[in-house]
Amino acid sequence: MGARAPQGARWHRVRGRSLWSEAALVHCPFCRHADSRVVDSRTSDDGSSIRRRRQCPQCGRRFTTVETASLSVVKRSGATEPFSREKIVNGVRKACQGRPVSEDDLALLAQRVEELVRSTGSAELDAYEIGLTILGPLRELDEVAYLRFASVYQAFDSLDDFEAAITSLRAEHEASRSDTEPHAGPDPDPSAGPPASTVAPAR
Ligand SMILES: [Zn+2]
Repeated sequence: MGARAPQGARWHRVRGRSLWSEAALVHCPFCRHADSRVVDSRTSDDGSSIRRRRQCPQCGRRFTTVETASLSVVKRSGATEPFSREKIVNGVRKACQGRPVSEDDLALLAQRVEELVRSTGSAELDAYEIGLTILGPLRELDEVAYLRFASVYQAFDSLDDFEAAITSLRAEHEASRSDTEPHAGPDPDPSAGPPASTVAPAR
């Protein structure tokens, strides 16, 4: 990266499933010596890459390598492309139309999605999994946008699907409310049925 980066020191993208670039195999770009010594390491601000300053023990010259976890998306067509936050933003923007969601919110959402996706440790995910990963952060951001996105993404095909999604949102609201209020209902009678923890929510 940057104008000063010598030839050979560049973003290292590993095709296929390898998670990390084989930094140890980077030859000196000046004399092609097969070994190098790390003199400095710096993690990028977003934590997604590490720049290493290396010195060649043979010619003594220095060069930079950038190590980044490979992350690609397999599209439905079978083609792969690098993960892109911009595509995440574009994918949810329509669902957020008319909602109080700013461009900053969208950028943060895309960042969150990338973190979640990277935390799986996979080098390759299919587009559908990425879409599922969007649902959680989008629900936290705006529930209406979430319902719109989920209805398209998970191909809601009946009112029941919407109802189920809304019921689960409501259940979560109730749960977060009961965190702050004392539970008003009667204590469950252990002789009356299974323990409270296994009682299914009312439909
Ligand atoms: Zn060298």
